[in-house]
Amino acid sequence: MYNGVNLDKLKEECGVVGIYHDSPEETARLVYYGLYALQHRGQESAGIAVNDGIKCNHYKGMGLVSEVFDDARLKEMKGHIGIGHVRYSTAGESYVGNAQPLVVRYRGGTIAMAHNGNLTNASKIRSRLEDDGLVFQTTIDSEVIVNLIARYSNEGVIAAIERTMGLIKGAYALTIMTEEELIGVRDPLGLRPLSLGKIGDNYALASESCAFDVMGATLIREVEPGEIIKINKNGIESTKYKNVGRRASCIFEYIYFARPDSILDGVSVYEARKNAGKLLALEHPVEADVVIAVPDSSIPSAVGYAEASGIPFGEGLIKNRYIGRTFIQPTQSMREIAVRLKLNPLKQNVEGKRVIMIDDSIVRGTTSKRLVKSLKNAGAKEVHVRVSSPPVAFSCYFGIDTPDKNQLIGGVKTVEQIRKIIEADSLGYISLEGLVKSTTLPKENLCLACFNGDYPIPVPNPEEKAFARYIGGE
Ligand code: SF4
Repeated sequence: MYNGVNLDKLKEECGVVGIYHDSPEETARLVYYGLYALQHRGQESAGIAVNDGIKCNHYKGMGLVSEVFDDARLKEMKGHIGIGHVRYSTAGESYVGNAQPLVVRYRGGTIAMAHNGNLTNASKIRSRLEDDGLVFQTTIDSEVIVNLIARYSNEGVIAAIERTMGLIKGAYALTIMTEEELIGVRDPLGLRPLSLGKIGDNYALASESCAFDVMGATLIREVEPGEIIKINKNGIESTKYKNVGRRASCIFEYIYFARPDSILDGVSVYEARKNAGKLLALEHPVEADVVIAVPDSSIPSAVGYAEASGIPFGEGLIKNRYIGRTFIQPTQSMREIAVRLKLNPLKQNVEGKRVIMIDDSIVRGTTSKRLVKSLKNAGAKEVHVRVSSPPVAFSCYFGIDTPDKNQLIGGVKTVEQIRKIIEADSLGYISLEGLVKSTTLPKENLCLACFNGDYPIPVPNPEEKAFARYIGGE
């Protein structure tokens, strides 16, 4: 998540929205509100495309949803179908050409598409398409998908999507718009989330159900892994892609990416985080005076830990919510200022106390070390770090920005070595079994690869990953 200051977290890549609506005046505005609710999934660029049955009108730009769109712009965008996208990207790939939705013309009209995820074979397909003379406009792998769909669309859009799904591998949750239809697609493993909602007699799609709450829609259900949902004037139609393997929903959505007020695959993200905190307390008890959270994403787990341990929950770190995009990054020698700017200890609550600090994950360990130090500087007698996910030890290839394996502290150091590095009095991570249990989902339905290296589909080697990131932009 973009924080203005890098707080050593994995970064989710994108959020998508779609709506089929009977009031063309309201469509773009509803997409806008949906994107607003999904802003945590990407802060680098935002885009909306609407179609009035004749033409596709689209606009995208760099920045937050509220920076890219204003009232006048939204008023100009009329159509009964709309899709939208928010995107995070790594440095160097962040330019408006890579923003979405992508819009391509084909024989039968226009296809607009918004993609959340990452393909593992985009570079191969892209080379083949380039050999056939196709010129790509962007450096993102999403363009491979939309071009394949356009290429096969003389067979009908759903057949074209199915054929495309037969070629592409990896993670994708898509909202697609033609002149007549809104289509939602989730990859056969269900790696990235996508939900279906209803607003009056109209239907909506979104990465997370919190977008529906804001749009005034109600969650109907998840789009199933491998499902293609077509929405048009006749209603809704579902097609199941035939090659659906095991399910593999990304467990990190429950740990950190998704908003706690979202329901994913039927599970409340808030409850999952709270359960993880309770289990963490059972697995790693310690005598202390107060349980604090690294805000905001660790708060539910800290509440759970406090409840299960009987140690009171208190605010120990105060978050500055106003660090914007124009925040000037401190120099290396000023890194501690950066962390204090973002999270400042609440001296009154930690001074002279034995503190349990709950964090949802440790990626490189840099922020944990600074937080422990700042709590001790504020007078904490002891700082015990408890983490509501196991050590992150493997890179993600499915649309999440992770450092290379050798930079993941959990991949190269033991728990005791990490404890010493971050200078905590004790350190405890929840077990993988405990984490799985916290979601109430069966283990075989989850992707746990960044903890155990068990990738649900074959992944390229790290060199190829670096290349794929360059051309894939994800
Ligand atoms: S590797 Fe980790 S972050 Fe990536 S999809 Fe799997 S669980 Fe999610």
